[in-house]
Amino acid sequence: MQDVLPWREPVPLDGTMGEPRARGRFGEYGGRYAPESLVEACREVDGAFREAWADPGFRGALARLLAEHVGRPTPLTPARRLSEALGVQLYLKREDLTHTGSHKINNVLGQALLATRMGRRRLIAETGAGQHGVATATAAALLGLEATVFMGERDIERQALNVFRMRMLGAEVVPVTTGSRTLKDATSEAMRHWVGATGDSHYCIGSVVGPDPYPWMVREFQRIIGDEARGQCAAELRTGVPDYVVACVGGGSNAAGTFAGFADTPARLVGVEAEGGAGAARGRLGVLHGCRSLFLQDDDGQITQAHSIAAGLDYPGVGPEHAHLRDLGRARYVTVTDDEAVGAAVRLARTEGIVPALESAHALAWVIREAGGGDLPAGSTVLMTLSGRGDKDVSTLKELL
Ligand SMILES: *Cc1c(COP(=O)(O)O)cnc(C)c1O
Repeated sequence: MQDVLPWREPVPLDGTMGEPRARGRFGEYGGRYAPESLVEACREVDGAFREAWADPGFRGALARLLAEHVGRPTPLTPARRLSEALGVQLYLKREDLTHTGSHKINNVLGQALLATRMGRRRLIAETGAGQHGVATATAAALLGLEATVFMGERDIERQALNVFRMRMLGAEVVPVTTGSRTLKDATSEAMRHWVGATGDSHYCIGSVVGPDPYPWMVREFQRIIGDEARGQCAAELRTGVPDYVVACVGGGSNAAGTFAGFADTPARLVGVEAEGGAGAARGRLGVLHGCRSLFLQDDDGQITQAHSIAAGLDYPGVGPEHAHLRDLGRARYVTVTDDEAVGAAVRLARTEGIVPALESAHALAWVIREAGGGDLPAGSTVLMTLSGRGDKDVSTLKELL
């Protein structure tokens, strides 16, 4: 439960959470560790993204889709009863209220629109629990693209409902039978498949991981969370900026998008990982899926399997920018246990009438545990991103409660 680095007073650093340095570097992390054919494909995505992101036409089209189809802007909800009980002022950024029920749709729609602009007609994706697969299938259907989703055979058995959703939306779900037959293998398989299909397909990565430009591009597509929240806090909070900005971290996309809106403020940034998937808090330097970052490894340097009750946090690493923010002391990474997350989910349901995704419940569990203590003094204002709704987790919770 201890952090790797001591808590430092955050200094807003010019340029943190701006563009990465040459070749997609965030400090010593990031990069583009991929076979030559994929390096070329990544270069193309990079060029297309830079051009699109500087084009008001593209920005406008994406903003329209996010308003009309996703329901943005999402509200900022004061958690009144829970705040009173905890002695802090807690505000929730409600990504659970988006179409499809989590922040993943923000990124996937951005990439789907970019794929259309690049003349691609198919999206390739991998999925673990199925959340990113469902979001990709949704975006593909909306924009008239095909979708091919790689999924480990074991995950297919465990997530039958999401497999059906993807097929209902018209996506092809490809079972992966290699290795542990879960997410890590599905990702390797999706990348292998992309090698032979770069001409007509876009590889749609679901978090701030993978080869450059994905960690940067996905953060930019998710920064709508932080940018909206910044404006909402300015209107709602006496101080304008919250004292703490908290989000859960799997690969780290909802946290990166949230942090980006507050990187140039004095807000303390806190990323909350699952105890069994603490890439930022406990990982070591390594390379996986095209990217140099922090990963859970055994003594031989083999990447180990992560374990979390929240499928979205069940990833053995963390995005390169989070590793860098950790080194800078600009953000801090902490962990909570499965039990703490389940307790937090129940508490939010019973005090605010909101059933959160178990991933999001991790962020809340840290707030509940630390409120009133040295890490989160009484009276602090806290902005927490509620990354998703808990509908997908009710059968897991039903087994436990
Ligand atoms: C996938 C997922 C996450 C974890 O992904 P990040 O890239 O770390 O944001 C968190 N919350 C929900 C609801 C998810 O579906």
